Amino acid sequence: MTRDLLFPIEALRRRRDVVREVDLEVNLDDLAVGGVDVTDGRVTLSLAVEVRGSEVAVTGRLQADWTGECRRCLESVSGHLDLEVGEVYVPDRPDSEGILPDTGNVYLLTGENLDLEPVVRDAVLLALPLSPLCRDECEGPDTERFPTGVPPDGDSAGEKPMDPRWAVLDILREGAVEDDDAHGASS
Ligand SMILES: [Zn+2]
Repeated sequence: MTRDLLFPIEALRRRRDVVREVDLEVNLDDLAVGGVDVTDGRVTLSLAVEVRGSEVAVTGRLQADWTGECRRCLESVSGHLDLEVGEVYVPDRPDSEGILPDTGNVYLLTGENLDLEPVVRDAVLLALPLSPLCRDECEGPDTERFPTGVPPDGDSAGEKPMDPRWAVLDILREGAVEDDDAHGASS
C-alpha cells in the first residue's frame, strides 16, 4: 500500500467540476504473476480523476516495464505495458433504492480517501503475460547448454559423492590436530 495513491474524497468533491490530473510514478510491492515481474514494481500513471455526482471516474493510461522468463527456453524476456483504464468508484453504501453496489464492476469509496492502488494493481496484473515467449518461433531450450534427459552411468567423473569414510576423519578432527594432507580431499 502506498500513500502516494490516496486522495482525500472531500477535497476532490470540493472541486467538483475540476478534473484532477494524476501524473506520477509509483513503486508497488508484489506486482508479479507467475515468473513475470513489473520492473522495480514501478508504474507510471497518467490519470484523470473526476467527481461525477456521488461517483468518481478514473480514466487514463498506465505504463510499466516487465521482465520474465521465456516459457520454452527460460531466457529472460522483457516488455512494456501501455494500458488504458476507465473505472468508476461508487460510495460504499446502498443507493436510493437500497441496492448495494456490485463490486464486480466498480470500486468502492471507503473511508476518507479515494485509493487508486486497486485500479493500478488490477489493471497491471491482468495485463502481464502469463507465459511469455522470447520470440514467437522460440523452439525451446538450447540442448547444448541445457541438456535434457539423464546422463549415462559413469559420466559423473570428478563429482563422486564424498566417501563416507572421510566423514569419520572429520569427526576425529574435531578433537585432535591432524596432518592436513590426510584429509584434504574431503574438504
Ligand atoms: Zn525462448
